[in-house]
Amino acid sequence: MNIQNFINGKLENPISKDWIDNYCPSDGEVYGKIPNSSKADVEKAYQSAKTAFKQWSQTTLEARSRILIKISELLEANLQRFAEAESKDNGKPIGLAKTIDIPRAASNFRFFGNAITQFASESHESAGQNAINYTLRQPIGVVGCISPWNLPLYLFTWKIAPAIAAGNCVVAKPSEVTPMTAYLLGEICNEAGLPKGVLNIVHGLGTTTGQAIVEHPEIKAISFTGGTATGAQIARVAAPMFKKLSLELGGKNPNIIFADCDYNEMLETTVSSSFANQGQICLCGSRIFIEASIYEAFKVDFVEKVKALKVGHPAKNTTKIGALVSKPHLEKVLSYIDIAKTEGGKILCGGNKVVVKGFENGYYLEPTIIEVKTDECRVNQEEIFGPVVTIMPFKTEADVLQMANKIKYGLSATLWTNNLKRTMHFSKQLQVGIFWVNTWMLRDLRTPFGGVKASGVGREGGFEALRFFTEAKNVCIKY
Ligand code: NDP
Repeated sequence: MNIQNFINGKLENPISKDWIDNYCPSDGEVYGKIPNSSKADVEKAYQSAKTAFKQWSQTTLEARSRILIKISELLEANLQRFAEAESKDNGKPIGLAKTIDIPRAASNFRFFGNAITQFASESHESAGQNAINYTLRQPIGVVGCISPWNLPLYLFTWKIAPAIAAGNCVVAKPSEVTPMTAYLLGEICNEAGLPKGVLNIVHGLGTTTGQAIVEHPEIKAISFTGGTATGAQIARVAAPMFKKLSLELGGKNPNIIFADCDYNEMLETTVSSSFANQGQICLCGSRIFIEASIYEAFKVDFVEKVKALKVGHPAKNTTKIGALVSKPHLEKVLSYIDIAKTEGGKILCGGNKVVVKGFENGYYLEPTIIEVKTDECRVNQEEIFGPVVTIMPFKTEADVLQMANKIKYGLSATLWTNNLKRTMHFSKQLQVGIFWVNTWMLRDLRTPFGGVKASGVGREGGFEALRFFTEAKNVCIKY
């Protein structure tokens, strides 16, 4: 099946007629082609967005809101079709796509459809000067949205929904590895009555199509989620052009477990926070630190639970761990397991490829726990982004805080404790953008989302996203 670009409300082949193979992670077969879009396709998408902007930016908030909510409803009505497409394209278990990925994509449109009707700006009465200042928040114009492969539609729409809610028009690129649900989204947008040109989707390689979006002189803002190295490359191109940038990058998040936590709840959640989506979530708690007094007991219980996770074909309802997204990614993750061995890490479980009967060429890997001797080893410092976690004990609060922060990343952290004083202390000391206490991945779309250090710049979510996708202009009126 050939995927096409979505430009000016129409599905189109790439101008160059150049195509890339699309692989199915669960069986390793090519099951379609996607456009290898060039600069010329990006320019066409830009021109379509530019034309649409004149009207869309003047559309009432109510009308914009209605269309976004309609897109949300249509995604919900097409849940099964979208979930199947996402699962096949990415390798994630169908149950996950059905309960998390697609419902969340629908929520993104509903949330920002509602949020835009509540978005307000400030005014300042300048007392004694007979003047009032107010902030006019105007859409930027044409903006670029670039998203990764791990939560394809979920993260794609997390950017697109606030961008168009705020009155911008968009040129967007999903990951070339997982283009399918972005392709299907075009059809839904037309059905919901989104005017042509408001959203344009170009498929292709990061280094050509993605780079062409970032380099385009008239695309004034880039919202990007992906790896830290790619984020740095985008910043190098965009900074001299003074583009607005939102960068959501990699993570290597600590999961800190104290003996005074609710043990069973912690254990259940830690299995998910380690291995959900094959560990391919930027928020996964991949560095697990356990208070020494419960370390041995935790090790036994955790290994037992992880060994019981069923690795299998993503379309099967019983599957808990599906396929990794691509062959190169599987090889990268396996290389870290080798690195762990050379560094003196002990593989407590997993570590091997899994052969699933009938799908022998799929990219399956056992969920893997590595006991490390020091927090400074590579497997504990570098983002693996697969079903691999490290564990090690700690003795004091000060020790674990120091280890949690001694890393280049700063996306999220999880703490398990029932001690309020400790919770407050950690909330202030941890160098992260998102901090969960006695839970993981509990999301409220109104909250600021993003990281510090090498995990990114800027915040998405709620009004933060609407602020990013608008320019603030101060208007001062003397009377
Ligand atoms: P990449 O950085 O490789 O790619 C992300 C997107 O950028 C893809 O669409 C990619 O296209 C595109 N791209 C690649 N090179 C360029 C370039 N030079 N200019 C413009 N666009 C480019 O990340 P992955 O897709 O591998 O995703 C995994 C990474 O994303 C992990 O590091 C993970 O931590 C991070 N992530 C961060 C999140 C956060 O919120 N902080 C959330 C989810 C993931 P293509 O795929 O076609 O090459």
